[in-house]
Parts: sequence; C-alpha cells; structure tokens
Amino acid sequence: MSKQFAIIGMGRFGSSVARTLYEMDYEVMGIDEDEEMINDNIQYVTHAVAADSTDERAMREIGIRNFDVVVVAIGADIQASILTTLILKEMGVKKIVAKAQNERHGQVLYKCGADRVVFPERDMGIRVAHNLISANVLDFIELAEDYSVAEVVVSSKMVGESLRQLDVRARYGVNVIAIKSGNSFNISPGPDEVIKPNDVLVVIGHNRDLKEFEEHA
Ligand code: ATP
Repeated sequence: MSKQFAIIGMGRFGSSVARTLYEMDYEVMGIDEDEEMINDNIQYVTHAVAADSTDERAMREIGIRNFDVVVVAIGADIQASILTTLILKEMGVKKIVAKAQNERHGQVLYKCGADRVVFPERDMGIRVAHNLISANVLDFIELAEDYSVAEVVVSSKMVGESLRQLDVRARYGVNVIAIKSGNSFNISPGPDEVIKPNDVLVVIGHNRDLKEFEEHA
C-alpha cells in the first residue's frame, strides 16, 4: 500500500503540501482547528478533520499514529507547533516533518523529536537570491550546509561544446549530474555530450564553486 500522510495546519504551506501529495494520488488527511480552513481545502485532500492538534485525545481518535508521515505545518503559533511535535513523538508517530519559523524554532523542534525540519521562507529566499545573481539559475537546492544542486540554463558560449571541452570540473570544481533538453532528461551525460541551445544543466558542488559557475560559465 502506498504511503499515507497527515498534514496538520492547512495554511499556505500545509495546503500546498497536501494538495501536491493528493494530486500524486496519495492518501492525505488534512487537519486544522479552523473549520474554515477545512472547508477551503476539502476538495484537495482524501479526508479533512477539524481538530486541535495539541489535544492528545483528539489525535488518538484520528488514529494519527497510523500515518506513515505527519507534517506539522503550523507556523505563527510556535507553542502549538512544538507541543504538537512533542505529542506526536510520544504517541509513536513514525516520521514527523515540521515547519520552522526560524533557526531557534527549528532546534527546538528537533529536540522534541521531529525527524526533519523545513524552513520554507528561508529556503525560498535562498532560491530567489540565486536567481537574482543570474537569471540563468532556475533552481537552487541546499543539500548540506555548504553543498547544493543548481539548475542552470546554458549560456551561449557553452552551446556546441561537449562536456569534455567545457571541463567544468577542472575549471569550477562542480559536476554536471544531468542535462535537461526540452522534455528529455539525460541523467548520466557522457563526456561527449554536446550542449544545445536552451539546455539546462543540473550541477552539484560547493556553494562557493557554484557561485563562480553561475556568474562566469
Ligand atoms: P502559512 O505560511 O503556511 O500560511 P503560517 O506559518 O502563517 O502558515 P499559521 O497560519 O499560523 O501558519 O498556521 C497554519 C494553520 O495551522 C492555520 O490554518 C491554523 O488554523 C492551523 N493551526 C494552528 N494551530 C493549530 C492547532 N493547534 N491544531 C490544528 N491546527 C492549527
């Protein structure tokens, strides 16, 4: 059976996570203490329940333990987000993903048992900033503190060159892990792969080297 998800907090972030999973045919339960948020999102989830996630009994009645992943998408009410994470952990939820407002909030969520903490505003800020440095950077995802994956549209000077000729590994210290050409996606490009106009390179590397690559390649 495919994974079952519960999303607590149907704000902008929670409803977007819920809807995306639902559109990929996963079973999704949406939980919010605000009836209006439930009504607004009912068509985008498999089940929707109005409940306060800091109420342990209510969570037990929903059977929150049986979900494979529970996302705590409560933002502004930091106390409710922390208390919810703690309750879910104590109840034995297998995987808890929690949204944090800031670093401190994130640290507390980890201490309370979150398996993964996400920082949507911070991460989106990073992505937008990289796109501002170079309009060719379509996306930027941090893998670890200093290492990331970037999607970069090729510059005109790269077109017609092979990966071997570009030699980005020696020149910039980054690695091309995939090339997107229109709808086709080459996930193991060889050294003789020739760059075409509008190709998108997926490159991995140290942030410092990626910056050089984004600015000069
Ligand atoms: P976003 O940026 O995703 O819109 P936010 O960070 O502003 O959200 P809030 O709006 O504070 O976060 O919370 C998201 C949702 O979580 C709201 O719809 C709110 O009703 C719900 N929520 C807050 N506390 C609880 C709780 N204890 N139990 C269930 N739902 C809750």
